[in-house]
Amino acid sequence: MKIGDTEIFPTKIICLGRNYVEHAKEMNSQIPKEPVFFCKTINCLIKNGDPIIYPRILFENEELNQVDHEVELALIIKKKCKNIKAVDFGEYILGYTIFLDITARKLQLKDRGINLPWYRSKNFDTFGPIGPKIVEDIEYPHDLKIELKLNGEVKQSSNTKLMIFKIQEIIEYLSKYITLEPGDIVATGTPSGVGPIHSGDLIEATIDKIGTLRNKVILEEE
Ligand code: MG
Repeated sequence: MKIGDTEIFPTKIICLGRNYVEHAKEMNSQIPKEPVFFCKTINCLIKNGDPIIYPRILFENEELNQVDHEVELALIIKKKCKNIKAVDFGEYILGYTIFLDITARKLQLKDRGINLPWYRSKNFDTFGPIGPKIVEDIEYPHDLKIELKLNGEVKQSSNTKLMIFKIQEIIEYLSKYITLEPGDIVATGTPSGVGPIHSGDLIEATIDKIGTLRNKVILEEE
């Protein structure tokens, strides 16, 4: 897919869970001692300006009808990564962008309650907007303002310095378990302020030095 002027061919999207203390608290989750990660699938990906499609299977079932926004700093892998040392991480990163980890929250909590994975709550089509471009020359990614507005109102506002696990640690940790390939997307977790979205909403996600990712929400057609 093309993000801004850069074409990438991701094989996977790896997301960190609970990587900001305030978000872990708002989810009534423990502060993790090592990175928590899960995968999103490629069918989630959409570009800046594309609609997020609100699934009817959630909309029509009151027990499941909640979809939340989560704004995250994402990095794009430049070259094959396996057993990387934290100090070398810079060589392996093509650049940074904005990712929305859209989540079917009630479905996630239901699955969590019965010890099922987060897979289906995270991987509806269009649940991973990314963009608007990949920025290569961010020397220090841990002092960037990160914000999300819903219909013009600020809902999430934080700074990437508040990440529990920093990017170099994340890359070292992940690459012990799996090989990261060029174009792979790693989303570094959301700060607090997550909340529901509805059909007709406009989401504007902004990170310093990257820009603003804009996506509208529409209800899936019958
Ligand atoms: Mg997330």
